[in-house]
Amino acid sequence: MNKYDLLIIGAGISGCTLAERFASIGKKVLIIDKRNHIGGNCYDFLDNAGILIPKYGPHFFHTNYEEVWSYVNRFSEWIPYNHKVFSDVNGDGSLLVSIPVNINTVNKMFNLKIKNEQEMKKWLEKNVEKIENPKNSEESALNRVGKVLYEKLFKNYTKKQWDKLPSELDSSVMNRIPVRTNFDERYFTDKYQAMPKKGYTKLFEKMLKNPNISVKLNTDFLNYKENLNEFEMVFFTGRIDSFFQYKFKKLEYRSLKFEFKTIEKEYFQKAAQINYPNTEEFTRITEIKHATGQKNKKTTIIYEYPTWEGEPYYPVPTKDNKELYEKYKNEAKKLEPEKIYFVGRLAEYKYFNMDEAFLNALNLFESIKNGK
Ligand code: UDP
Repeated sequence: MNKYDLLIIGAGISGCTLAERFASIGKKVLIIDKRNHIGGNCYDFLDNAGILIPKYGPHFFHTNYEEVWSYVNRFSEWIPYNHKVFSDVNGDGSLLVSIPVNINTVNKMFNLKIKNEQEMKKWLEKNVEKIENPKNSEESALNRVGKVLYEKLFKNYTKKQWDKLPSELDSSVMNRIPVRTNFDERYFTDKYQAMPKKGYTKLFEKMLKNPNISVKLNTDFLNYKENLNEFEMVFFTGRIDSFFQYKFKKLEYRSLKFEFKTIEKEYFQKAAQINYPNTEEFTRITEIKHATGQKNKKTTIIYEYPTWEGEPYYPVPTKDNKELYEKYKNEAKKLEPEKIYFVGRLAEYKYFNMDEAFLNALNLFESIKNGK
């Protein structure tokens, strides 16, 4: 007899949230991950210099969802952190402007002295290319910031990040970045913006600390593929095309490679994140100490190189991928009567933020519990 009620494949945000929730109502949960750690791409660890480092790139938590905020507060203390990003337009520090575009960005780029919202609105009015219902990320950027800012800040960064021109990508990619008519330089404006005091891995450990949950690492889902019907429910959080052995075609997922460098000084750059839109092969340098607030005489910086090889990180919202995903989604729907669910960024092919991933898993739990 199977001693578990549920099988959860993948120990990232979606998997851990479902495990925690179902365990809390008495279900016996087996959660597996093919990596040698939990936490998915949020996993962090102390490096040789004693600095808390995100192995798969930085994660800055922000949310307006009260329920998500109160949920994550059950598993960690949080330290407030308002994320700030600058763009090194020429790659040599000569023009460092704040992102998202706000009054300071425009003043610095064009040597202007815009003083208030009204003047900024006027400037935008004059400089944007008005496009009704932007169909892609290029149109969205032109419509909101105009040609010069688009070309200097967004076009090449996007090409590097996605290996696609913004015109090939859904407008939702660019719409992630707002445009401000004030001086607010914060990257996000959500009510809650914070980092887990002891890191994300500790938070996930606490979520899974329940006698009803068993964790098996270094475990491929293929080991269980033939035995799924032995579980009351199965939750798959990996890339959806892999579940179906890529039977249609491979969906595109963009990946990242990282280079970590420890430096013998307290800080390397003026903010946690500096973007390099036009020069360099990497997209950005993150100095996570600015966010975690860790005190250390040394610092570790992270260079980010987008790539097609390696672990999947980002669904790539082009027309072709969306159509292909729909085919896989139809296959997935057919498995719902067998209580096999596809959940999260990779399985639902959605560019979820962390809080959206938590919310999505919490909602799925509630709907299953309430028999909807
Ligand atoms: N982006 C850009 N220039 C920037 C910052 C962002 O062109 O300086 C575009 C780019 O296409 C990126 C998208 O906006 O992929 C979303 O940015 P975000 O910071 O949300 O990306 P993430 O942190 O999720 O990689």
